[in-house]
Amino acid sequence: MSFPVCVTCGVQYAEKPEGDCPICADSRQYVAYGGQQWTTLKDLLGKHHNVFTDIEPRVVSIHSEPAFAIGQRAFLIDTGEGNLLWDCITLLDDATIAGIERRGSITAMAISHPHYYSTMIEWSNAFGGIPIWIHEAERDWICRPAPQVQFWSGYTHKLPGGITLIRSGGHFDGYQVAHWPDGAEGRGALFAGDQPQVCGDRRWVSFLYSYPNMIPFNARQVQAITASLEPFAYERLYGAFGRHVLQDAKGAVARSAERYLRAIS
Ligand SMILES: [Zn+2]
Ligand SMILES: [Zn+2]
Repeated sequence: MSFPVCVTCGVQYAEKPEGDCPICADSRQYVAYGGQQWTTLKDLLGKHHNVFTDIEPRVVSIHSEPAFAIGQRAFLIDTGEGNLLWDCITLLDDATIAGIERRGSITAMAISHPHYYSTMIEWSNAFGGIPIWIHEAERDWICRPAPQVQFWSGYTHKLPGGITLIRSGGHFDGYQVAHWPDGAEGRGALFAGDQPQVCGDRRWVSFLYSYPNMIPFNARQVQAITASLEPFAYERLYGAFGRHVLQDAKGAVARSAERYLRAIS
């Protein structure tokens, strides 16, 4: 609870790094205007609370109010073979633990990329040291190493309950999304985190190397991301910020990639 947490990205470190938070010093994030600031999970308690939102049958999203750091949402997915926590948020308080226990607890976690590592070890510990599935290409970004971090390699990794982790790369080399075939009444759902990013017009998605600094991809990179998703069927795509593509998400990804490639050519 007293490990240092970066105020800008919300990631918890085993020890305060020398200088700025490495995740924020990278070109995909930023150090806050005014300089690096640190807090702790203990210090956040009572200042924020978490809100549970029913998204579809067997899926609940969890986000903090007032928003903290990047402001992403986590998802609790009842796979039928245990609950998976997809992505993670920094605030973990007693009310959140109780709310999750009431919904059947968590048996595993998986996190799209380092921007959402947050207090993942605290979450794992709170539910008995459950495994956290992360692609091995992100090994160097683990800010608080712990034995429950489980690295996988290759391009896909199956988890219980039909979930497939897909390494789509792009935003981060080991960027992963979660495909759940039971989602959207059996038509499939993709839990995408930051990538593809759901646009303001929710019929569309987009792709950026850096969202805060607006650094685009080249054609080959966009094609690699969409090719990794191509084998999977999904009607819905759930983003990290409460914006979702609820219909024909797979078509939306294909149309959006075409539009992107036209725009950069
Ligand atoms: Zn940071
Ligand atoms: Zn990100």
